[in-house]
Formats: sequence, structure tokens, C-alpha cells
Amino acid sequence: MASGASARQAASSDSAGLADPVERLGVHHLRIPVKSPRDHGSGLVADSVEIVLVRLDTKSGVSGWGEAAPWSVFTGTAEQAAAALDRYLRPLVIGADTADIPAIMAKADAALTGHREAKAALETALYDCRGRLLGLPVHALLGGRFRDRIALSVSLADPDFEADLALLDRLTADGIGIVKVKTGASDHRFDLRRLERLRADFPQLDVRVDYNQGMAPHEARRRLADIESFDVSFIEQPVPRTCWAAMADLTGALKTPVLADESVFGPDEAVRAVAERFCDLISVKLMKAGGLRRGMAVAAIAEAGGMACYGGDMFETGLAHLAGTHMIAASANISLGCEFYQAKYYLARDILAEPFPIDNGAVVVPEGAGLGIDVDVAAVNAHTIAQADG
Ligand code: MG
Repeated sequence: MASGASARQAASSDSAGLADPVERLGVHHLRIPVKSPRDHGSGLVADSVEIVLVRLDTKSGVSGWGEAAPWSVFTGTAEQAAAALDRYLRPLVIGADTADIPAIMAKADAALTGHREAKAALETALYDCRGRLLGLPVHALLGGRFRDRIALSVSLADPDFEADLALLDRLTADGIGIVKVKTGASDHRFDLRRLERLRADFPQLDVRVDYNQGMAPHEARRRLADIESFDVSFIEQPVPRTCWAAMADLTGALKTPVLADESVFGPDEAVRAVAERFCDLISVKLMKAGGLRRGMAVAAIAEAGGMACYGGDMFETGLAHLAGTHMIAASANISLGCEFYQAKYYLARDILAEPFPIDNGAVVVPEGAGLGIDVDVAAVNAHTIAQADG
């Protein structure tokens, strides 16, 4: 407990340089072309993805960036995230001190329900500002580093499986050891054929499957018994988000661990997952949880309940990948790797000034100040379709 004297000392050191109010907030709505179509069962991404970036400029002269990566069939829309940041969160942020991130985020939750992607973007930008001011990486602000590399999983979701096989040759040459097959989008026999081929041609791979809520509960148990014969290391979200009882039945019936993605957004649903044992594993995503600290809360609740976590993502650029990387670096229980592959393998062009750091099948945790890599402002501007500043 700080004494009155040391509290005053802290206050005076703040006034000597650690206070750093936000002076400007910019919102950019981007559309970024992708290299190939992807069918996730719950939604098809044909030619581009839309994201929203927030840029904060502080009194000391630092700028920090954060990303909202919504998906209309899953978490929300880009228009929603842009309006949340521009109209509802801006008044709370202008003039607020980047030393007060938890207080700012509490005000954001009180002023605006939901809109978790926008809140994730805001919190990321605040941590980026704070880290850059203090000369510390974001993971140091989140409690420190547990790991400096994160095993990378790449998802296979091209409706043309031959194109995915060609991609796999490149992936394995790059040292990628984990793939996640998006199942349930076509028919069951197509899924079995793909798994059979993967097991035959790439026996060394750690293979996971993700149904993206794609099966009705009454068909799931029989189909998943077939899937188990391919020794996959987890089965992700086989049934719709709110079929919690069916998730619990499958978790009890299958030998393969069941991972909850859509069924667990934030800490409240993580508590429910532990209480009802409706999964063995949880996918933590910044955009579902509503930020880095809430994602870490999901991981902590899962850990207390004996469940390991995986670092999931949405259709993100390297900027949101960086935020997720710092969260996972600081979270011992997010131990099943991550899927931050899109900046390198999926987007036609990323928005970071340097390539998102992937080396020999793993994401390398950046050690520079803030998120550790700058945004390429020219790339941001090239893809911006709407913006607001002030
Ligand atoms: Mg998923």
C-alpha cells in the first residue's frame, strides 16, 4: 500500500513526464483484397476483408494504433466498429491519460454495451501509446513474458482443395507444423477425403478441424466419430454457438478434445464453460473478448478450470496479430499455438511497415516499444474507404 508521501511522489513524477493525455483520435475503415476465396461454412469471404483502425496521438508526440476486425456472421460489422470509436468512445478518450488504461476501458464498457472489436482496437492503441512512451513492449505492460515464440497454425479453407495442397507445400517448406482444416462447409465425405489426403501426404502435421458451428447436434456425434479416426488434435466448435448442452454431450462422448470458439466470447462464458464442462479447450480472440486484458481473463478462468487455450483470430491484419501476440506472450495458459497467418499468407497486402514476424513455423514475439512494429501509413491510406479524425 502506498503511503501518502509516496503517492504524492508518484503524482509528482507523473507531472514530470509519465502523464500523457490523448489529443487526437483517427478512425480508418479499410477494405483489403485477399489472395483467395475462403469458405468457413458460416460465411464465405470472396475477395476482400474490411477492418477498422484507430490511431491515437498523445501530448508527448507518440502515436498508437489498434485494430477492430469484425465479421458480420460472427462478431459484428466494420460500420458498427467505426461508429463506436468515432461517436461513442471518442469523448471518453480525448484528454484521458494513457496511464489509466483500465479506467478508460471501464468507462468505455459503462458508456457502450457490446462493440467488443471497437474496444479491443481502443485498448490496443492505448497500450501501443503507453509502451512507446515508456520504451517497453506491450507484453511487459501486461505482466511480462512467458514465451518468446508461438507455434503457428494455418487454416485450410479454400473450396478448391488442390489449391490448399499447393499452399501446404509452401507452408511445410516454411516450417509450419500445424494446420486447421475448415470442415462442415461442404459435405462430410469431402471432409473425410481431405483428411485422408492430408494424413497420407503430410503425416508429420499436427491436424486440427474447425466446424465453425457447421453441424446440427443430431448429426455431430456420428460424423465426429469418423473424424476421430484421423487422429486430429482438437475439434473446434462442431455445433452452433448456443448449443451448449450439445457441446457438453460431445465433450463427454469424444476421445478428441473439443475446443469452444463461438460458444465462448468473454470471461462470463468462460466461467460457464468451466461450470458446465461444455468443452476441453477454449479459443481466445481479442475481438470476441473485447481486448487484451479480457482475453487474458478468459485464459486465467480456463486455467483455473483445467482447460488450455488457443490463440484464435478473425480476418485480421498484422496489426491485430501483433496485439494477440503480446497477449499470448504474457499468458502461460494460451499454450496451443496461434493462427496469426493471414498477414503473411492471406492478405494481398499487409499494413505493417515490416513483415509480421514469422520464423520457421512460429510467430516471434517483438521486443520493440509498444506493439513493436510500426504501421505503414501509406498502406493504410491506400486501403481506406472512409475515415474520421479529430
Ligand atoms: Mg473457429
